Amino acid sequence: MIVLKSRADIEKMRKAGRVVARALRVMSEAIIPGKTTPAELDALAKRIIEEAGGHPSFLNYRGFPASSCISVNDTVVHGIPDATALLEGDIIGLDLGVQLDGWHADGAWTYPVGTISKEAQRLLNVTRESLFQGISKARVGNRIGDVSAAVQKYVESNGYSVVRDLVGHGIGRNLHEEPAAVPNFGRAGKGEVLREGITMCIEPMVNAGTFKVVTLADKWTLKTADGSLSAHFEHTIAITREGPEILTLE
Ligand code: MG
Repeated sequence: MIVLKSRADIEKMRKAGRVVARALRVMSEAIIPGKTTPAELDALAKRIIEEAGGHPSFLNYRGFPASSCISVNDTVVHGIPDATALLEGDIIGLDLGVQLDGWHADGAWTYPVGTISKEAQRLLNVTRESLFQGISKARVGNRIGDVSAAVQKYVESNGYSVVRDLVGHGIGRNLHEEPAAVPNFGRAGKGEVLREGITMCIEPMVNAGTFKVVTLADKWTLKTADGSLSAHFEHTIAITREGPEILTLE
């Protein structure tokens, strides 16, 4: 059952969302090519979240060992932050959740490390824009398939592919709740009708090559099957009478 959120509930989620946005920004600003490691960025995320009175939603979630997922280059999502220094030209996906006063928010952004190739920059631009294309369809009376189709159409018209194995999700008092799946592919006019008070994460994962992914032996890290670059952008949004509201902003 989808739990609809009141205006007051949504404001609580926005407080968690502000911490998500701040943590992502501060992490991105800390990146020094050739020096900073994902493990250092993860420690920074944990500190920011805890200083704000929150708890990192991902830490120990189904056994995940860190406060953030950090996914470099051909890693799609769920990278475990390690001690390998980031290099000039890398792209780095930062993904984290914050639980504050019992409410969660979840967001992700992919950043360039120093100067990156034009092709990598185009992948970031297209993936980011596909998120906003999806958000624009998150309106009362539309269906989840309208969001899905908007993301897919924008991505594929730009020559990239959307990952099928992972999807967006409802969020609230739980990190993952109903609607259980907000896919980045699908058909307009299909799926659950969107109602006022639904809160959910829209999170396109876009590959430069094939949409196929492989899971590493650590059982978390998802990489592109062909080694191509992958990007990931995510916002937590609320569906209101006035339209979609992004909750993961500072
Ligand atoms: Mg998510």
